[in-house]
Amino acid sequence: MQKLVIATKNAGKLREMRDMLSHLSVEVVSLADFSELPDAVEDASTFAGNARIKAQFYADAVGFPCLADDSGIEVAALAGAPGVHSARYAGEHGNDAANNKKMVRELKKLGMAESPADYRCAMVFAIPGVKHAKALTEGRVDGRVVLTPRGEGGFGYDPYFIPKDYPEKHMAELTQAEKEAISHRGRALRRMLEKLEAYYAGRNHQ
Ligand code: IMP
Repeated sequence: MQKLVIATKNAGKLREMRDMLSHLSVEVVSLADFSELPDAVEDASTFAGNARIKAQFYADAVGFPCLADDSGIEVAALAGAPGVHSARYAGEHGNDAANNKKMVRELKKLGMAESPADYRCAMVFAIPGVKHAKALTEGRVDGRVVLTPRGEGGFGYDPYFIPKDYPEKHMAELTQAEKEAISHRGRALRRMLEKLEAYYAGRNHQ
């Protein structure tokens, strides 16, 4: 079976993306399945730029087609921060508790109990050695962030985010299926599915 590498070590992202790709006839693997891979240098200033860097870097590094997502939350009261720095807002990459604590602290400093916010995701599919063939899709979910967390699901900033689509619930209170239906990543991935299906249908007939 053809392989597809998901360019992440983030367990929450991987769980969501694997679920949404489960009907494709490909073997879905992630960076955790490869040892001693160098880290891509995500130095672009946009989600799309970083997703492009990651997708091509890991496609070339492992030798399989690669799907990379770059995502984050933009808080209006914080002038769009943490944005592309969402994973390392408080310094240490992927420390959700520290990132959330900093977001709450920054809002409190401004005397705000909540702020409009949105999650954004850029997704890129890249093929090893074929730099011009990258496909890009994007997704976004609007809502607001508050100072008090609720819910045990999702990951990252989800306990503090209330999506417009479910105004009574925090993102971390949604089931995985509910989150996938409205989330930035779900929207970007559904837009990408058609391109993946076309690519793998061609390959499986070769
Ligand atoms: P990336 O791995 O560089 O794309 O950074 C993604 C970071 O954005 C994560 O570590 C989270 O902090 C945040 N993030 C992205 N998507 C979500 C989500 O669906 N829920 C909560 N936080 C998210």
